Amino acid sequence: MRAAIVTMGCKVNQAESAALFAGLSKAGYDIGDPVGADLIVLNTCSVTSKADKEALTLLRRLRRANPGAYLVASGCLAQLSPEKLVAPNLADLALDAKGRDHILDYLPKRLNPQKLTHPPTFDSSFSAVPAPYKTRVFLKIQDGCAAYCSYCVVPLARGPERSLEPQVALSQLKAILSAGVREVVLTGIHLGRYGQDLGTDLRRFLALIATEFKAPRNFRLRLSSLEPNEIFWASEALESGLLAPHIHAPLQSGSDRILKKMGRPYLRDDYRRIILDLAQKFGPLALGCDVLVGFPGESHKDFQQTYLLLEELPLSYFHVFPYSPRPGTKAAEFPERIPDPVKKERVKALKDLDKVKRAAFLTTQYPLKHLGLVENTLDPKGRFRVLTGSYIRAVWGAPAKPVPNTLIAVRLKEPKTVGDPPEAYPW
Ligand code: SF4
Repeated sequence: MRAAIVTMGCKVNQAESAALFAGLSKAGYDIGDPVGADLIVLNTCSVTSKADKEALTLLRRLRRANPGAYLVASGCLAQLSPEKLVAPNLADLALDAKGRDHILDYLPKRLNPQKLTHPPTFDSSFSAVPAPYKTRVFLKIQDGCAAYCSYCVVPLARGPERSLEPQVALSQLKAILSAGVREVVLTGIHLGRYGQDLGTDLRRFLALIATEFKAPRNFRLRLSSLEPNEIFWASEALESGLLAPHIHAPLQSGSDRILKKMGRPYLRDDYRRIILDLAQKFGPLALGCDVLVGFPGESHKDFQQTYLLLEELPLSYFHVFPYSPRPGTKAAEFPERIPDPVKKERVKALKDLDKVKRAAFLTTQYPLKHLGLVENTLDPKGRFRVLTGSYIRAVWGAPAKPVPNTLIAVRLKEPKTVGDPPEAYPW
């Protein structure tokens, strides 16, 4: 019996797909490409209306390419609007998070490969087993959010904050590392709130890991994303080198007026100070953020403030999203919608700025020594992919083949062809 898992969206979805991968493999499925699969699971995202549309397009495409497959939709859109997903040309079944953990219970008999009367549950609420289909493993240690930023549908899809017990998370980490994994990304919907429901916090959890795995270590950790006002939880682990030199801290807007309307817990100057402090303390650190453009009422002046802040700060990249109203959120009721052409123009301006910032960051990285993770997969030109701690995606440039899934000291060189990624060579 063959299955395929297609994942949209964030690193938490990837961690949950990994748990599903492990569970379905255990139940006897061969996991591979959607082509010719008996069962296909699409793990959807619903963070923007564009993501909703993409989920429907993907389902249609999967259905057309695999008319005989049993198609299951899970993830945030399946949680929020399952009725949108089940139709003859779309999915056969939509499962919420609990349902996905018991997916074999819901499948037709022909798809229960070992005729299991008590099929295993997959516990995708927290990924228990790494799926070794990628070099890096996403370990989900936190789920849910209670921040209710006014534009965000995630708290409705994901529910209240909950964390994986530190000792359980630690033993999962040990299992992942003992399988030879060299980079683990700790993920969560609101990662900076890790442990608050258990009377602990992210700093203590990272300290626990540092005590368990003393330096020098043959692996590195990375954090998926931290709210700017919660970065302090990570400072010791960044300093000690337990964490890769990379922080992703959503900004969303550089205008105080808009930040307040968004319900974000910081102002422009707070963000500015936090990022400048980080850059001063840690030097060549990769600093990324998300920006939401065209929030209701965003004036030209508000947008300019965002642009100027992004231009000024030592950020290495940013992800730009046009605002779209999400049903059930506060902002969906806000007046003063920004016309689409204005949003498009603003998105383009920021994407252009992002290109400039990425290029500027790269030039600061060429003289440095990096720890590169050689990935298992090759790029379309057949070259090994190398990921640095500072989140630069390079390709292997030296004639001697590297060993996949190893961390090695590399230097980066400008690509020979314009538009190609930088090249990595042994240090
Ligand atoms: S912190 Fe805000 S943006 Fe992030 S998941 Fe929670 S509500 Fe959404």
